[in-house]
Amino acid sequence: MYEGDIASVLISEDQIQDKIAELAGIIAERYPVGAPEGDLLLVGVLKGAVFFMTDLARALPIPTQMEFMAVSSYGSSTSSSGVVRILKDLDKDIAGRHVLIVEDIIDSGLTLSWLMRNLRTRNPASLEVVTLLRKPDAIKVDVEVANVGFDIPDEFVVGYGLDYAERYRDLPYIGTLEPTVYGG
Ligand code: 5GP
Ligand code: MG
Ligand code: MG
Repeated sequence: MYEGDIASVLISEDQIQDKIAELAGIIAERYPVGAPEGDLLLVGVLKGAVFFMTDLARALPIPTQMEFMAVSSYGSSTSSSGVVRILKDLDKDIAGRHVLIVEDIIDSGLTLSWLMRNLRTRNPASLEVVTLLRKPDAIKVDVEVANVGFDIPDEFVVGYGLDYAERYRDLPYIGTLEPTVYGG
């Protein structure tokens, strides 16, 4: 698939799945099952986090519920500005719930920082984040992220939910693109 477009595989399918099992074990220990706050509520950020969200939910040995949000940050396609617009909001009230935001990648951190401030105003019982990827060299704002899958170099990556112009989300691994792809 996408022959000739992928320059290198940064994180393999096996590495991703092993990491998800590890994260699921760590996360599950922190949330009491049968709490009055109800099941852990996973809030996935569309569309990039979809594969991570569904694999994580199935790896977690505790009951979870799922909600999705779609946000768009104004800026170019490869960098974000921190000005965020909600394209799709949560269907349910999260007041009093244990909420875990599920993110694909933290780049500048601006989107997540905005999202956390927004969700905190809705008074969840707790609010934490799990992200599959993080680019430590690209961080512009300090965001408290309890769970990180992989720290990666400041390079544009695709696959496992991450797109370039809506393509490559369906790859089971994380890779980098050949420069010819950006060239058109
Ligand atoms: P931030 O606000 O942290 O700068 O950006 C977050 C969003 O930018 C991510 O959720 C993702 O949609 C997009 N993004 C950041 N870095 C990458 C990348 O390397 N590849 C892809 N495909 N999207 C990225
Ligand atoms: Mg995201
Ligand atoms: Mg994108």
